[in-house]
Amino acid sequence: MKVAILGGGLMGRLIALAFNDLKAELTLFEKKTLDHKGNTASIAAAMLAPESESVHMPTELLPMADRAIERWSDILKQLGIPHALHRQGSLIICHPQDKHELTDFIQRIPRQNKSHPLNEQTLYEMEPGLAKGLEGCLVTGEGHLDNDVFLERTTQWLYEHVHVFEKAEVVQTFQNRVHWLEVSGQAKQSAFDWIIDCRGIGAKVEYQSLRGVRGEIIRIRAPHVNLIRPVRLLHPRYPLYIVPKPDHRFVIGATEIETESQAPITVRSVLELLSAAYSVSDGFAEAQVEAMQVGLRPAFSDHRPKVSVHEQVIRVNGLYRHGFLLGPAIAESVFKVIQNPIESIEGGYVEHLA
Ligand SMILES: Cc1cc2nc3c(=O)[nH]c(=O)nc-3n(C[C@H](O)[C@H](O)[C@H](O)COP(=O)(O)OP(=O)(O)OC[C@H]3O[C@@H](n4cnc5c(N)ncnc54)[C@H](O)[C@@H]3O)c2cc1C
Repeated sequence: MKVAILGGGLMGRLIALAFNDLKAELTLFEKKTLDHKGNTASIAAAMLAPESESVHMPTELLPMADRAIERWSDILKQLGIPHALHRQGSLIICHPQDKHELTDFIQRIPRQNKSHPLNEQTLYEMEPGLAKGLEGCLVTGEGHLDNDVFLERTTQWLYEHVHVFEKAEVVQTFQNRVHWLEVSGQAKQSAFDWIIDCRGIGAKVEYQSLRGVRGEIIRIRAPHVNLIRPVRLLHPRYPLYIVPKPDHRFVIGATEIETESQAPITVRSVLELLSAAYSVSDGFAEAQVEAMQVGLRPAFSDHRPKVSVHEQVIRVNGLYRHGFLLGPAIAESVFKVIQNPIESIEGGYVEHLA
């Protein structure tokens, strides 16, 4: 069986890995290069935070998120990088004057037994890298990934197991054929049994309702700050998260702005993100800013991911803020569609367009 995967971002990689056990000949087309640092999957903070994200995610997706988090453990073991998964929970924190924000947030957590209040002392004992005087709660079961490690390892895996075309922009899919442009502008086409479209916002032409939601992040290296868990600061004007990465690196993010502009980060966002981070730990004052990045989260109006199947073309999109949180479960559902199309379509979140 010949399968084409369009897009080597997060879903393209997870789907290629899900096909590992099937005797399929995989070909992957990526518009940029697999190691491109500006890809959405590389910009993302890669938190796995179903409870903390409840404001942005329909609660019906919680079981899918739980399944995906379990799958991450298997996927990373399969790749030989189990240490890239961290599951010590997340911290939700606030300054004393914003305590009402914390009360509201805790009330909105769907599974209340996952949230554990922390006073100033217990919070400080848990994460001594944080400033004193903060309050918060621990949300258990959550975690984060070292996405750079995952992306580097999967790039290597793809070169070893998949026929990869980089700088190959897919312009059309028609009657099981993929039409693409190579870097020279040369047009080519080839036929496949299945085409799996994972082009994220690059597949916008296929959907009326897909939009990009701008997110800005700042990457810093702070040799004097130690944090084990992702931290979310609740603030009426500058909510933010700080996600630890290997070697004292941190991702500070993220804005959420309704525009598809990919212009560089604004002064306002830089000031808000860095000031808020500094209020969480003054160790960030001496941090080195390594990158400021902008990405577009591919989203439908209901903020749910969609898998649609039409004439041997499977389209996967709308992962919004939750590509890492939901991706492995969605990749599994795509795999089931190919193994048994009708049963899978009846089974849930697969939308059949035919
Ligand atoms: C600032 C920010 C923070 C985030 N934080 C988190 C988080 O903490 N947790 C979480 O779960 N999610 C997070 N996300 C969301 C997550 O990154 C996305 O949901 C996910 O990357 C979407 O995966 P995808 O494969 O659909 O698209 P992408 O990862 O964007 O991949 C699409 C790929 O297709 C390629 N492509 C596009 N057009 C073409 C074409 N014509 N031909 C060939 N290839 C093409 C692109 O170059 C790209 O490599 C965040 C996103 C942003 C922007």
